[in-house]
Amino acid sequence: MTLTADLVIATAVAYVGLLFVIAYLGDRHTRSRSGGFLRSPFVYTLSISVYCTSWTFYGAVGTAARNGLEYLTIYLGPTVVFIGWWFILRRLVRISHDQRITSIADLLSSRFGKSSTLAVLITVLAVIAIAPYIALQLKAITSSIEAIAGSSEFGRGSLEGWDEVGLAFGVAAGMAVFTILFGTRNVDAKEQHHGVVAAIAFEAVVKLAALLAVGFFVVYIGGGMDAIFANAETAGLSIHAGDTFGDRWISMMVLAAAAIICLPRQFQVTVVENSDEKHLRTASWAFPAYMLAMSLFTLPIALFGLTFMPAGSNPDMFVLTLPLAQGQDALALFAFIGGFSSATSMIILESIALSIMVSNHIVVPIMLRLTSGDGIGDGQGVRRLILNARRLSIMLILLLGFAYFYLTRGSDALAPIGLISFTGVAQFLPAILASLFWRDASTKAAICAVSIGFVVWLWSSFMPSFASSSPLVASVMTNGPWGIEWLRPQGLFGFDDLDPLTHAVFWSLFLNTTVLILGSLVTNQSALEHVQAALFLNVFRRTSNEASPLRGSATADDLFLVARRVLGHDRAVALFSEEAKQARMPWTTLEPSSSFIRRLEREMAGSIGAASAHVMLSKVVSGDSISLEEVMQMADETQQAIEYSQELEKTSTQLRATAEKLEEANRQLRKVDLQKDEFLSQVSHEVRTPMTAIRAFSEILLSEDELDENSKTKFVSTIHKESLRLTSLLDEILDLSALERGERAWENRPIDAEESLDQALRVCDALARQNNTQVKIGTRASAAYVRSDPDRLSQVLINLISNAIKYNGAIAPIVEVRSRLKKGAYIIEVEDNGIGIAEEERPRIFDKFYRGRLGETGPYAGAGLGLPISREIISRMDGVLELVSNVEEGACFRITLPLITRSEAGAAQ
Ligand code: ADP
Repeated sequence: MTLTADLVIATAVAYVGLLFVIAYLGDRHTRSRSGGFLRSPFVYTLSISVYCTSWTFYGAVGTAARNGLEYLTIYLGPTVVFIGWWFILRRLVRISHDQRITSIADLLSSRFGKSSTLAVLITVLAVIAIAPYIALQLKAITSSIEAIAGSSEFGRGSLEGWDEVGLAFGVAAGMAVFTILFGTRNVDAKEQHHGVVAAIAFEAVVKLAALLAVGFFVVYIGGGMDAIFANAETAGLSIHAGDTFGDRWISMMVLAAAAIICLPRQFQVTVVENSDEKHLRTASWAFPAYMLAMSLFTLPIALFGLTFMPAGSNPDMFVLTLPLAQGQDALALFAFIGGFSSATSMIILESIALSIMVSNHIVVPIMLRLTSGDGIGDGQGVRRLILNARRLSIMLILLLGFAYFYLTRGSDALAPIGLISFTGVAQFLPAILASLFWRDASTKAAICAVSIGFVVWLWSSFMPSFASSSPLVASVMTNGPWGIEWLRPQGLFGFDDLDPLTHAVFWSLFLNTTVLILGSLVTNQSALEHVQAALFLNVFRRTSNEASPLRGSATADDLFLVARRVLGHDRAVALFSEEAKQARMPWTTLEPSSSFIRRLEREMAGSIGAASAHVMLSKVVSGDSISLEEVMQMADETQQAIEYSQELEKTSTQLRATAEKLEEANRQLRKVDLQKDEFLSQVSHEVRTPMTAIRAFSEILLSEDELDENSKTKFVSTIHKESLRLTSLLDEILDLSALERGERAWENRPIDAEESLDQALRVCDALARQNNTQVKIGTRASAAYVRSDPDRLSQVLINLISNAIKYNGAIAPIVEVRSRLKKGAYIIEVEDNGIGIAEEERPRIFDKFYRGRLGETGPYAGAGLGLPISREIISRMDGVLELVSNVEEGACFRITLPLITRSEAGAAQ
């Protein structure tokens, strides 16, 4: 088989076709099944190995041939990051899932107060920084095609200059077409491209297999490892770490570690395309293992090439030219496909990642502003706009890569070009680390920091690569701009002795970090920045439903069952029909979108609380081991718990009311108890006075023998009088307490009250005469039938009339008694012209043992129980006894009793 350029190009095109098929099948596979082997951690790891580009495939051997073990740093940096995945990668993945981050620009702008300025800055920097890297791939592919087609020169390139450029342009255009066809078929909210990732994983296997095949072949023809390494000295290659280790090593390690995080395509595969956080754990050892395998034969190939290839052969192409030189055309073709794989996977993914950034942060915002939203009102319009923006961005990115390739085609080695890109994207590192670990980092500081890093990089790393094609750049390099020496790109501030790479890395990252720290210390954060900073820092602490949006799938039926349980039938039906109408499909085939699930969650949270809603839905949605029945049971239990607690609340309200009543009763009891004590002490006081008199006089009678008859009679009659008083007092007390206990010694019956009044007047006649009191009879009712007891009614009337006589005090005392019928009531009034009852005494006149001025000391001083007893008696006849307030002189008491009907009264006649 003879390898011609046509055959090589045809193979390459066929290979791209194969990738196409794989990507297509991959997309179909993930769509049809939720998961499958494409979501395995190994496919994830293989896709991460897009890190190993043609620079690694071809360039590592070149680096080893030129700088010894230095090529290892490119693997060691990422190895450190992956082994320590717990610290940085895990955070990045979690945050990006939570915040739905789609790119590195999105990540930083999201952390720094959703700043669009920062997003644009990051995007521009990324596009410019990646251009050399894409150029590197174009260069590797064209060099490899040249190497095969012009194999007599062993990679020195026998094709004419325009052919090389044409070839590179063809490759760039081909890649653009492939990427547009594949990377921009649809817009996915999560920016995941399962098909493309499948193709990339396949390419990872191809490039590793090709490199290992060449390695084994070289070791085989070189007579084993020992034989090859024995020639190291003659080959002029230093393989002792001690000889090469130095500041360049540190710079390259730092760069490679930064690159595995900051390169847009690495962020895309490691973070954005990650479907399961656990995959990181596998990748943490599998990816370093992959890199180890890739680097296994780098030294032997370099050594063997240096020993056996003609002097002046391009060491970057040894992987290809060694098999060619040995006449192994098939192996050479395989090696070419391996290198081609490395280059294409990088170009495809990088341009997808960059196009997402360019379209999301630059093109779409500009287009939206220009069209001010007209004409793209519907979802389709926006979709079209985004897809076109992506396509345009991909073309732009590849064009930039090609432009860089064209402008710098003079330089030889692959590795330095890659390092320029690494240094560029490393400018994101300080801001990324700050976003993960430093709460106080501010947006303004981040923008300034990235800007200064960007400028220093442009000046000291990017621009010098044009030195060979531009005399102006060359002169700036040697003399500085306008002759300012300390501004020379590779000798900033007079640091001439540093290796150019270390120089650029040091100054760019040093100034970048310093500005970020100092800037953050002197500027303040906005509220939004503050919130976002907290969200980023506490990413592993939050449990709210906003923090971890539900992912996964569930059938509409399952969701409906749960929703109905919680929201009730009507509300659930309303929600689902609304969603079905929006999705324009019947309920039964409805595939609930994540936004709909979130909405359901919110609705349910209103009923059962956020946490429960989240748990319930996540059980259904993520299909955890818990069954639907169990979830239903949970819902029922929740409902029962709610009812039970409502019941409890009701009971406790009742209990509270009962307790209040008890307390009130208790207060009453205490009051009554107090009254009882008071009553007892008054009674004993009242009893004491007559008892003392009786005792004193009886003692005199007993001890004094010499008493004359007259005194004896006087004493005995006093004792008699006091005894009567005592008896009547005790009668009154007994009467009152019986009345107060509710006992009634009489039976109310229909009577004519006028007769009782007549009787009372008769009884009081003697008393009136004795006191020279005129008892006047005023108007009288002819007959008044009431339900009462005639003796008890008389008792009250006698009390009132005798009070009016006793407590009168007027010179010509007059008592007027009158009665009348009024509105179904019988009214008797007893009025006198005496001193009356003083204003301040009125409220207490019906109290037990209360006595007025005359009652206290006068000849008729009583116990003060007459009025309270009378009032009790009247009230037991359903009547009222009151003191009439507006009389001119004296006192007036009034009894009101309800009249009864004539038929009832019949019994009285
Ligand atoms: P008692 O049984 O000692 O007569 P009452 O309860 O009947 O006591 O009367 C209480 C007090 O009311 C008397 O001590 C007297 O001061 C006053 N009082 C009663 N009726 C009259 C009245 N018609 N005019 C003036 N004071 C009166």
